[in-house]
Parts: sequence; structure tokens; C-alpha cells
Amino acid sequence: MAKPLPRPTPTEQPFYDACARGELILQHCQHCGHVLFYPRTHCDACQSEQLVWQRASGAGVIASYTVVRRGVSADFEAPYVIALVDLVEGPRMMSQIVDVDFDALAVGLSVTVDFASWSEDITLPVFRLHPALDDDAS
Ligand SMILES: [Zn+2]
Repeated sequence: MAKPLPRPTPTEQPFYDACARGELILQHCQHCGHVLFYPRTHCDACQSEQLVWQRASGAGVIASYTVVRRGVSADFEAPYVIALVDLVEGPRMMSQIVDVDFDALAVGLSVTVDFASWSEDITLPVFRLHPALDDDAS
């Protein structure tokens, strides 16, 4: 099975364009202040269409994770870490934690965004542990 390739819709395209520039952006609802992910045409809290893209901090916290030790096909080079990351802006994003000692992983650890090439045309956000943020919090 080949890697699935995102085919961005016009609504999603700004997100992927930003990733290619090394920026994480999120839609903010001008009506109710809700921050959205994944990209939508309407706010999923209030249905408003008044959505504007804003750059995100890239900081988040691991909400859950799993270590995939056997890739689903040769196109998925195991082991790798799939995680749910709660961004500080609010949305929860499924992504990967890269360059990490699996034994160091834990729910609640701080991460920051980085970007990885998924294909010639698609760059995706990935995350790295950011221990300094955890030290600041303590
Ligand atoms: Zn809204």
C-alpha cells in the first residue's frame, strides 16, 4: 500500500501552502473566537463563514500516542510514533512525534511543530519533544 497522499481542497490549500513555508496556520472564527482544525468552510462551533487564517505557535501537548513497530507497508518505515497533539490554540491534531526516544514519550509532554516532506508536493506538520517547555511549567 502506497502512502496516502492528501489532495487538498481549495479550503485546505492555505494550510498545506503554509506547511511548505514552514508555518503552521489555523482558522480562527471571527464570530465566536473558536479555533478550527481540520480546515473547514464553516466554524464547527457556530456555523459562521467568517474564518481567518492565523499563524499558530506550534506548541502543544501530547494527548495520546502509540509506537507503530510494524509499518502497514514498505512505504511506512517503522518504527514511528503517531500522536494526538493538543495545540495550545485548542485544536487536537493527529501527527507524528519525530526523532524521539520511545521510552521518553509520555502523555502530557510538551512538543513543538516541525515539518516533514511527505511527497514532492505535500509537506506535513510533525512534532518534536520540547523539554524546555515542561521545565518552564514546573
Ligand atoms: Zn464560530
